[in-house]
Amino acid sequence: MISKFSISEYPFVSQTGVWEENRTLPAQKDLDKSPALFLDRDGVIVKEVNYLQNPKDVELIQGAAEIIAKANKNKIPVIMVTNQAGIAYGYFGWEEFDAVQHQVHNDLEKLGACIDAVFACPFHQKGDTLWGGHPDHEARKPLPGMLLRAEKMLNIDFANSWIVGDRASDIEAGLHAGLAGGLHVLTGHGSREGETDLANALETPQFKVRSGANIIDAMQLPIFNA
Ligand SMILES: [Mg+2]
Repeated sequence: MISKFSISEYPFVSQTGVWEENRTLPAQKDLDKSPALFLDRDGVIVKEVNYLQNPKDVELIQGAAEIIAKANKNKIPVIMVTNQAGIAYGYFGWEEFDAVQHQVHNDLEKLGACIDAVFACPFHQKGDTLWGGHPDHEARKPLPGMLLRAEKMLNIDFANSWIVGDRASDIEAGLHAGLAGGLHVLTGHGSREGETDLANALETPQFKVRSGANIIDAMQLPIFNA
């Protein structure tokens, strides 16, 4: 099938137009089914910058490298899932996204922390680019398309996996995917009025919602204390 998105020069951009990058993990068939730690990027791993597109603006949030390194040590796959509406709006493209990602990976790897896989969604209802005009795109959080792609690519035990996000919509994506729970953090947009209440309201008997100041609070999640 020819996709209009296959014109991308970026090898990780799939036919569906979503960035799907496995950086370190073996093919699904070789993996034991493992719980994963899903992490939002902006406002969770790196400080929130409006439409981050310049590597010079990358600044790690305190504790991010520590948590990721601990997951690496415990063989818990660390999977970044990030909405990038700036691409739909035409503010930047995959080239800028890629440059920022290199900086994030370099900064983390200097501290002994490695992101295992990356999923990024460029679609949004607004914007008159190729990626704009997509209301409720299945890959854009709060919908779970990026997490479902991760499950297909890797061998994820969703029922014991967690997501960390600064927006309630990050946590909601975890709920829709059937994860164990979500940690809502106050960095990034997390302290915006109502955001914590929206996140907490997503709790169900099957899906836990926890609150934390910062990504370092993920240390208390059951995934690290099994
Ligand atoms: Mg965020």
